[in-house]
Order: sequence, then C-alpha cells, then structure tokens
Amino acid sequence: MNSTALFARLKPLNRSNNPLYTVARHYVSRTNTKNNTSSTAPNNLLYLDQMYNNNNPQQQQQQKKDYDVYFKSLPKKQLVSLLLIGLCSLNKFTLATAIKMFPFIPYQIVKSLVSSLYCGGETMDEVLQCGKLLQNRGISNMMLSLTIENSDGVKQIDNIDEIVALTIESLHNVLKPNLLSQLQHSPDINDIAPGYIALKPSALVKNPHKVLANFNTHPDAHVLVENCNRITSEVFQLNQQLAAMYPHRKVPFFIATIDAEKFELQHNGVYALQRQLMHKFNKLEYPLPSVIGTWQLYLADSMKHIQHDIHLAKQNGYSLGLKIVRGAYIHSEPNRDSIIFKSKAATDRNYNEIMLNIINDMARNGSKSVFSHLMVASHNMDSQLKAATILNSLPSDHYARGNVTMGQLLGMADNVAFELVENNNMKNVVKYVPWGPTKETRDYLLRRLQENGDAVRSDNGWGLVKRVCSALI
Ligand SMILES: Cc1cc2nc3c(=O)[nH]c(=O)nc-3n(C[C@H](O)[C@H](O)[C@H](O)COP(=O)(O)OP(=O)(O)OC[C@H]3O[C@@H](n4cnc5c(N)ncnc54)[C@H](O)[C@@H]3O)c2cc1C
Repeated sequence: MNSTALFARLKPLNRSNNPLYTVARHYVSRTNTKNNTSSTAPNNLLYLDQMYNNNNPQQQQQQKKDYDVYFKSLPKKQLVSLLLIGLCSLNKFTLATAIKMFPFIPYQIVKSLVSSLYCGGETMDEVLQCGKLLQNRGISNMMLSLTIENSDGVKQIDNIDEIVALTIESLHNVLKPNLLSQLQHSPDINDIAPGYIALKPSALVKNPHKVLANFNTHPDAHVLVENCNRITSEVFQLNQQLAAMYPHRKVPFFIATIDAEKFELQHNGVYALQRQLMHKFNKLEYPLPSVIGTWQLYLADSMKHIQHDIHLAKQNGYSLGLKIVRGAYIHSEPNRDSIIFKSKAATDRNYNEIMLNIINDMARNGSKSVFSHLMVASHNMDSQLKAATILNSLPSDHYARGNVTMGQLLGMADNVAFELVENNNMKNVVKYVPWGPTKETRDYLLRRLQENGDAVRSDNGWGLVKRVCSALI
C-alpha cells in the first residue's frame, strides 16, 4: 500500500489487538483522571515517576535499580543542578517564585548552576566536549541550535549574517569532527546517528513575524529562503562528499532541520519554506536527503497537512524528511481552542498514529518510502517505546533502523534516553543541544522552567530531591 493511500485511509488503530500498543516494557504513566491524559509535562521530573508507576513489582525493582545506576553515574555538578531544579519545583509556589526571580539572577550563577544542565556551552569547543560526554552515555549525536529566542517574531535581530556564518561554522567545527571520530571506529557505519543543525526561521530574517505571516507575498521572504539555502547547501555538499567516502552508509551524515514556530507563522510561512527546501535538497536522485521539516502534532489539522505534503513530494519527485513534535506553544497560542486538540489524550493519539504509520511505511518500503527520514522528537516514554518496538522487530541492517531517530532536549527526559539506549538497544538517540551566549540561552532556560509548571500541577520535585540526595550520599 502506498503512503498516500495509507494516510488517506488512516483511521484510529484498534488498540485492543494491535501489538504496537503493548510495548515490551509497559509503563503506565501517572494518569490525570480529569481528561485521561498520559504524561502531561515536557520535563524531567514527571518522567522520574513514570519509572515507578509500573504495576509489575519485579519490573519496578529493575527500573529502580536502573535509575539508581543512572543517577550514580552523573557528575556531582550535574546532581547539584538537579537538586536545585527539584527544590524550585517543590510546589506551585516555589516554582512561580523561581520563575519570577530568574531574570534577576546574575549570569555567572545561571551559567554554572543551570545552563550546564540544559545548554551545550557558549563556545564551539564547549559544545564539542558536550558531544563527547553524550557519547559516553550511548548518545551518538546532537541537534545543534544556536539559540536566539524570538518565538513571538517581534525581536529585531541585527546580526543575521553572523548567525548564518556561526551556524555553518558549527557544522564544520562541531558536528563534523563529532561524527567522523565515531565513523572511523564504529563496527556498523549506520549505527551513528546524523548530526543535525536546527534552523529557527524566526531568527533568520528581519521582521520575522511579518515575513512568515505573509510568506507568499512579502518582499523579504527570499532573504529567509536564501539564508536557509546557504546553510542547507553546506549540509548537502558534506553529505555528497562523505557518501562517496562511505558508500555503505544509508543514513544522512548531516541534516538541516527547520524548527516549528507558533501557528500563524507555521501555517503561513514555515510549511512553505520547508517544502521549498525539501524540493531542492531531497530530490529522489540524490543518495541521501539533507533537510527535514517539523510538524506539530498537537494541531488538529496536522494529519491533513502531512497528507498534502505526501502528495506534493510524490508529484514533484522529492522525499519527505520529518521531525515530529507534539508542539511547544500550547500556553501562548491565542486561538488554542480552535487549532489544538481539545485534550492531551487526543494529541497523544494523533502523535502515536502518525508516528506508527510513518515508521510502518518506512519498514515496509525501505528506501522507496516517500518518507526518507523521521525524528521522533519527544520526551514521552510511551511514544518512544512504541517506536523502539517496531524498530527492534526489523533486521539490524534495515533502512528504517538508522533513518528513524529519537530526540530529546539536553537535560530533559534523560531517563527516557537511558531506557532507549540501555534497555531497548537503540543506537539512534540524539539530544537537542542549544548553545550560544548565556544572555540568549537564558530565555530558552526560562521556557524550560515555565514548562515545569505543567508537571507541578500533578507532581512535585520532592522525588527528584530525594533521589539526588541518595546519589550524593
Ligand atoms: C528534539 C526536540 C525538538 C523539538 N523541536 C520543537 C520545535 O521545533 N517546535 C516546537 O513547537 N516544539 C519543539 N519541541 C518541543 C515539543 O513540541 C514538546 O513541547 C515537548 O517535547 C513535550 O512534548 P512530548 O512529546 O515530549 O510529550 P509529553 O510531555 O507527553 O506532552 C506534552 C505536550 O502535549 C501537548 N499537550 C499537553 N496538554 C495538552 C492538552 N490539554 N491538549 C492538547 N495537547 C496537550 C503539548 O504539546 C505539550 O507540550 C521539541 C522537542 C524535542 C524533544
């Protein structure tokens, strides 16, 4: 069955008899009885408890042991940072206070206590070092994001040429050595995940809100396209060069990734931008794709958009590369009720159905699938284990094994990464690594802290504090 038909015929999967809904190690996440949600928060606190909500006592015991080992393996400095996060998140009041005080905390303190947990560093050398530490944990690659926060698209960014130049430099000076050092020593060349460069459209053009909201008519839209082209061309050239040196590799060496923005910018501009780039850099005659776009699956119309993109890709002879996320702007979208699914459970259903259909299509059709690459970008243990279950059922040299990767943000859901690497034989786990001046990454950190607010509604940081203390003693 071809992918268009697959998505056109898509109807809710029958959970009672579909084995993909029963993952090998089943986690029952804390359930919010009000709207029957599974985990509701994108942070590392809640996932700690996913590890303990399994009802099987033997598995519980094993998970507890695994997690103790994981905590004991962390450097002291990181444990102290986690202790601080746990203390800030003890309850709603402590978290709200921490969020209010955060802008007034001196840079040096933020840098040494919090940035090191969530950011790769300020310089490329520091980020390279971060890559090495991740490798020690079985995480072979990174998605680098030079962080200039501008999600409202209103901040004037003056140094866009510098952002483009630094982004290209980070490809050559961080991602390339990080990958090459591993390719030379890996028994299987497809076991090392690609190095990703994240491109945030709202940081790559002046007046991003106006440009993206009026992408088809705005005179500066071509500047944004050109900036993305410049970076993606470098990725493309490196892929061609390395493909000639390593002809057995089925997985791209590097991938440019267009990050998703708020709905208005996404809908009017980013979808069109990522389509143009895939049309140019993912032509079927090229051995490897060089660019992927992002789809936010909390959007009620996301399935329709993917179906449309499948149609366009087939019509125009290019492959689709996707990063799928649930979506980060639920608290700030002005028309949330009309554009986002009404419940967390509905978002989860949509996410898992789309993800399973894409992976199944790649499993069935290999390199002939319309989907050339998929990143399951999520902290949700259930989604990730479902993906791992299908991948583990495929032969080790199958196209989909290396072309489906699993991403989490640096410093978040580390236990999900640990579970995938240590207990599910996943070699394709990567971390999204923001890097850049502390002044800029500070806004990113504030967003991470605000996201903790979701968790504190149903959980608190006390569990984290207890576990860190026992690892420290
Ligand atoms: C590698 C990586 C890259 C990312 N890149 C982007 C990006 O480019 N753009 C972007 O927007 N986000 C991005 N994100 C963030 C992502 O969109 C999510 O905010 C975050 O990962 C939390 O979702 P989750 O899948 O981890 O799972 P969970 O923690 O299980 O789900 C939380 C998410 O569910 C959704 N949700 C929660 N409550 C409700 C509700 N009541 N109704 C409907 N939906 C609800 C929200 O999307 C919320 O963020 C990225 C995340 C990762 C890991």
